[in-house]
Amino acid sequence: MSTDLLLIYPPVARPAEPPIGIAQIKSAFNHHNLSCSIIDANLEGLRYVIKHCPSPQSSDLQFAFRFREQHQRSIRSPHTCAVYDAYKRAVLELNRILQASGARYNASISFTDYKQLDYRPTESSHLLQAAAKARNNPFYSYFKTSLKHKIENQQPLMIGFSLIYLSQAVTTFALIGLVREWFPGVKIVLGGGLLTSWMSQPGWRNPFSGLVDECVAGCGENGLLPLFQKTRDSKIFCRPDYSDVKSAHYFSPGRILPYTTSSGCYWRRCRFCPEHVEQNRYQQKQHQQITEDFAYYHRSRIDLVHFTDNALPASMLRHLIAEPPPAPWYGYVRFIDELLDIDFCRALARSGCIMLQLGLESAAQEVLDAMCKGIQIEHVSLILKNLNDVGIFTFIYLLFGTPWEDEHRAKKTLDFVVSHSNWIQYINPAIFNLPVNSLDVQNLVTRPFYPGDLSLYHDFDHPKGWHRSRVRHFVQKEFRVHSTIKKIMAKHPPLFSSAHAPFFHPFFPADRGKL
Ligand code: SF4
Repeated sequence: MSTDLLLIYPPVARPAEPPIGIAQIKSAFNHHNLSCSIIDANLEGLRYVIKHCPSPQSSDLQFAFRFREQHQRSIRSPHTCAVYDAYKRAVLELNRILQASGARYNASISFTDYKQLDYRPTESSHLLQAAAKARNNPFYSYFKTSLKHKIENQQPLMIGFSLIYLSQAVTTFALIGLVREWFPGVKIVLGGGLLTSWMSQPGWRNPFSGLVDECVAGCGENGLLPLFQKTRDSKIFCRPDYSDVKSAHYFSPGRILPYTTSSGCYWRRCRFCPEHVEQNRYQQKQHQQITEDFAYYHRSRIDLVHFTDNALPASMLRHLIAEPPPAPWYGYVRFIDELLDIDFCRALARSGCIMLQLGLESAAQEVLDAMCKGIQIEHVSLILKNLNDVGIFTFIYLLFGTPWEDEHRAKKTLDFVVSHSNWIQYINPAIFNLPVNSLDVQNLVTRPFYPGDLSLYHDFDHPKGWHRSRVRHFVQKEFRVHSTIKKIMAKHPPLFSSAHAPFFHPFFPADRGKL
């Protein structure tokens, strides 16, 4: 029997958990009595490449090669996190195998990135070339020997590709090229976050029309259901359906359930953020539905719930306190006033919250005000202390080089992190990229960041002379090398970052028996 829609998640993206977007679309299709299945070609492709990597010539790679199966088992074992060095070695050794496998194709593969000589993911002509010369792709062998047969068995009427990250672009197009060749009668649809960003650029003209039948921006269900003469009821959020990947071996020390309670961002004011520029509508799931979803998921083995919301508002945190998720959980929140209350934080911890991701960006109040973060820096101090006191890990995001910062203010951020280091478990320092559709573009002198008609960022002359090269120098040579920051960064899970960070929370060793 044929499938109405087959959804494919192409390599390369961090393979720690199942992709939520296509699992939601599957659920929406089933809700409308349409058949839909999903294939995580990212996970399958990476596992295939590791398994079939030819024996390396260089002796220093022999060890990684010989123990590659063991390393994969280690990453999936909850016990690995008890010994950070063993965990780190397993991740980095496997990553070296990926890199060595890609090198034969002039490609650089890692758990989080993909680059290939001659194919720039920000250049539509390069992506079309990748489709035309798909046999040059390091995942070609997996596509031909495994994925092709799965598609044949399903006989889909339509195949949808979920393109979320730039690191997926080249291989997505290589795979589209092959599907076009192998299954000429099947309709091809392209969607996902990256495509949505491309399509929301002013002056977007579809360069893929000869290869792809439909490009779908925004919420996948909204774009795909009408292709089957159905309409999504915007009030209904379907429960992500992971049944097609329930026995997949993700690279994680426990089973992660990605779940979202909303779409968009309720705050939507931070000036550097696409949510602000695009003004996407904020929608929240009914609390009753969340309770029902959790009851459903309680039946399966889940070790960690990952809330993928842009930011969980206070009302949702209250709901999670009243109706806790089926396993320990983590997600993004803002530095909201409720977190100033230690009893509220305690209740959050009791609900199973083991880590919160918080976007601080800067510790200079004038920068926070200019970027409309809605944060009082003196509140941040108390919130970090409260969360630490109740045993909730904090994962803090910093952004250097915004148009409102200068070196003096960047140093304020460094000082703040150092003086609060006892209450911070993880930090992620990033360098600001100016989105091409940012409202600030008109006030700045800009130039293309990298060549290509699909580039999403501008380089710019910093109004305070705090240019990118100086910012990079500061982050590399002052921030990261500070002895206190180094100590925090040394605990950072390599490559998998926040996806694995919660597994180092004391909850897991204490509860090993359950896992
Ligand atoms: S809270 Fe996060 S998602 Fe929302 S506007 Fe700010 S940066 Fe963007």
